[in-house]
Amino acid sequence: MTKVKNVPIDLRSDTVTRPSAAMRAAMAAAEVGDDVYGEDPSVNRLEAMAAGMLGKEAAVFVCSGTQSNLIALLAHCERGDEYVVGQQAHTYKYEGGGAAVLGGIQPQPLDLEPDGSLDLRKVEAAIKPDDPHFARTRLLCLENTQAGKALPLEYLRRAREFTAAKRLGIHLDGARIFNAAVHLGVPVGEISRHFDSVSVCLSKGLGAPVGSVLCGPRDLVAGARRWRKVVGGGMRQAGVLAAAGIYALEHNVERLAEDHENARALADGLSRIDEVSVAPEGAQTNMVFASVAPQRSAELRAYLGERGMRIGAGPGTIRLVTHLDVDRGDIGRFVEAVAGFFSGSGLKGASRSPRAGYRPTRRSARSR
Ligand SMILES: *Cc1c(COP(=O)(O)O)cnc(C)c1O
Repeated sequence: MTKVKNVPIDLRSDTVTRPSAAMRAAMAAAEVGDDVYGEDPSVNRLEAMAAGMLGKEAAVFVCSGTQSNLIALLAHCERGDEYVVGQQAHTYKYEGGGAAVLGGIQPQPLDLEPDGSLDLRKVEAAIKPDDPHFARTRLLCLENTQAGKALPLEYLRRAREFTAAKRLGIHLDGARIFNAAVHLGVPVGEISRHFDSVSVCLSKGLGAPVGSVLCGPRDLVAGARRWRKVVGGGMRQAGVLAAAGIYALEHNVERLAEDHENARALADGLSRIDEVSVAPEGAQTNMVFASVAPQRSAELRAYLGERGMRIGAGPGTIRLVTHLDVDRGDIGRFVEAVAGFFSGSGLKGASRSPRAGYRPTRRSARSR
């Protein structure tokens, strides 16, 4: 199917998706009430639906993934407590330090393993003794998918067992948990069952314009709901937004497989370009990371920008995220444009970087 697009090919993130006509229709038709009074039927329905899918007792609808993780941490931990988290995890690195800023909760960041997990031996070594010198270690926080990688179910089972033995809570930043479930070919509950609480973004690959849901045990979610109000997140006729979330959960979960296929096609296409090294873990889900010569990434981004194509780029690294507003034709056009950039520079000669001795740099592109 060819279609001429007047919208750019935006591969910076799956947050850029726009609500479809059908989703907008569902929003326009939503029944609403005042959600702070618990009276918005659409919000209540979304919360029940999300909790049901994840196999949790309760859920709370919030405006963003950041707010969802924040109120989860505030509900799990008190001032003077500590959570163990990935050094490169969104919750630690990309959320303004919210848990520390607003909750007096100390993070204990640890380097993530190449598969996106935290080594449980390293977590164990980081747990502080019960002694007034130390913060009280209370919670382990994982992320799934982590930079596009789905954590193995066997690892999740061990993490759950470990935290139970150590009397720690366990929270999942599952912004893209549905991408992980689709990749693994399991119902999402097979992932969420290993966690006390799970935060899920509706506004990424699922295509809703706004919103996340935090799912977990009834009392924890009640505590989080209280914190949602404290941080100014109590919304009123939020049913118009919740209706988009319901639509997303009903229509946009299985189609994530298309985004994953497109990411693989993108990785394959780019790997045929000499000047581009696609990260070896490839495109498990909807993200592709690649390296180019450090001095070329900004230039590449600008070149693509002139052609209506947008990418995430750090020095020597690019991050590309597929989503429901990008189709296979777009992928083909994008790969051609990247190839054109490098062959063009080859003709110019001078600025072309020699391939020999070039090593891909460790990626640092933002992990949103
Ligand atoms: C996007 C994202 C979040 C936060 O979501 P926002 O809605 O942008 O605040 C949290 N964790 C991960 C892994 C994300 O990708």
